[in-house]
Amino acid sequence: MSDLATLLERNRRFAADFREGDLAIRPRLSTVVLTCLDARVDPAHFLGLELGDVVVLRNAGGRITPAVLSDLAVLGFLAGRLPGNAATQLELAVIHHPDCGMSRLADPAAQQDLAERLGVEPADIASMAITDPAESVRADIETLRRMPGAPGSLVVSGHTYDVATGALSTIVEPAPLGLGNAD
Ligand SMILES: [Zn+2]
Repeated sequence: MSDLATLLERNRRFAADFREGDLAIRPRLSTVVLTCLDARVDPAHFLGLELGDVVVLRNAGGRITPAVLSDLAVLGFLAGRLPGNAATQLELAVIHHPDCGMSRLADPAAQQDLAERLGVEPADIASMAITDPAESVRADIETLRRMPGAPGSLVVSGHTYDVATGALSTIVEPAPLGLGNAD
């Protein structure tokens, strides 16, 4: 059986017992989770999520990027227009992890190779490397704070998820992005 056939078979079993077709579009919890696309780093597992609990954004490394900022803007826009608690204030939890594939990008030869494939500068690739997840999660929250259009009222926290133990550690306590902002 191909991998896709395996997945389709699993979905058939999932749909056969499906009882949650009446879930509200608004998630039960107001925290948005941003984390790595690594198969070991699945918040549905390590945060015990149920269907409909939270919005999860995933990219290579769980990095703050302009695309993430754009998604947050869309979510904030929609949150004010969905039925339910209109006063819901979104929070963002950024979660990086050790042994991230993005650690391979610390190697200058890898930076050069990937930069050529993507048509960008090696320095752009170097900034994507994650060697110390606690350091990169702190740096990303600072990056978000400095991004034009970042909502100052957004409460942001930073964490690391240990793929060896399953434990989450809080590195940056939750605080509104506007706190510590120079302007
Ligand atoms: Zn990763």
